[in-house]
Amino acid sequence: MLKLFDTVPLAAPVDLGFVNGALDRAALRRDDAAWQSAAYRAADTRVIAICQDVPVMGWNGTAITPHFTVPQALELGAVDDAVFLGLHSGRSYFAHHVAPEAFEALQARADLKLIGMRSIAMQGLIDPSMLSAFGTAKSLLSWHARHRFCSACGQPSVATSAGWKRVCPACGTEHFPRTDPVVIMLAVRGDVCLMGRGPQFPEGFYSCLAGFLEPGETIEEAVRRETFEEAGIRVGRVKYIQAQPWPFPSSLMIGCIAEALTQDIQIDRQELADARWFTKQEVASILQNTHAEGFSAPPRMAIAHHMMELFVQS
Ligand SMILES: [Zn+2]
Repeated sequence: MLKLFDTVPLAAPVDLGFVNGALDRAALRRDDAAWQSAAYRAADTRVIAICQDVPVMGWNGTAITPHFTVPQALELGAVDDAVFLGLHSGRSYFAHHVAPEAFEALQARADLKLIGMRSIAMQGLIDPSMLSAFGTAKSLLSWHARHRFCSACGQPSVATSAGWKRVCPACGTEHFPRTDPVVIMLAVRGDVCLMGRGPQFPEGFYSCLAGFLEPGETIEEAVRRETFEEAGIRVGRVKYIQAQPWPFPSSLMIGCIAEALTQDIQIDRQELADARWFTKQEVASILQNTHAEGFSAPPRMAIAHHMMELFVQS
C-alpha cells in the first residue's frame, strides 16, 4: 500500500507561494460568537489588513511587520469586513478589509508599506508560512467585497460564521466563498514539452498552458480540452502533481503533467501569441536565465516553474 504513495511528496515545495500555511483554520470556532469575541479582544491577537486588494503592512524603516495588533488595525481606517483566519502558536489571526477611501492616507504614512500581493510573493517579503494566510485573507475579503447582494433575490446579504459565509435575510439563501479551479498543465512528448505565451506576457516569456475548469468537467477532461483548444495538441494520460491557491482573486491552480499524443501545434491566436516544443536542455536554460534567445519563465513562487523543473529532472 505504501508503495502507491512513494512518488507523492509529503509537502509542497518550500518556495512555492501561498502553500504550506502555518494557520490552524479552527473552523469549529467560526460559529462560536463568544469565543470569536474573546479571541478578537485578546491582547496578542494579530490582524492582516488589506485595502483595495493591497496588503497594508507596518514599516520601521528597515523591516516589515506583516500584521497589526487589533487597536493598531482599527486606526488604519473604517473596517468594511473582518474575518477570522485561524490560530498559530496560540494566537488568533483575523483579516480586515480597510475601507477604500483610506488608501491614499495609508500610502502617505511613513510607518506603513502598501505592497501588491504578487510583489510580496515574488520578493519573499514575508515569512513563507504567513504568505498562505495573506492569500486566504485576500481571496476571502475580495469575495465579500464583490458579493454584497444575494444572487438569488438581489437583496443585501449579511456575513456570518466569522466571515466564512453570507446569508440573505430576505430569502434565507446561504452563500459560500468561491474557489475557481484552473488546470495548469505541461504536456510532454518524449523529450520535449509544450509551453506557450499569452498575448499579455512579456516578449520571450513562456509558461505552461492553463485554463478554467468548466462545470461538468473532470480535471483530466479540462486538461485535454484546454490543450487541444489552445495548441491543437491531443492529450492522453493526465497525472496530477500539485495544486497552488492563487489569490487573484480566488483561483486554485491544479498542476498536471499531460501525455501529448500528437505533434503538430495549431495555435488559437485569441488565447496564445505563441506555443512551441522545448527540449529539456532549453527548459533548464530558461529556468537558469541562460537561454540563448533570452527566454524567461514564471518565478519560483509559481507552480509552472516547479512543473518545468520536474520535467527537467525527469
Ligand atoms: Zn436572497
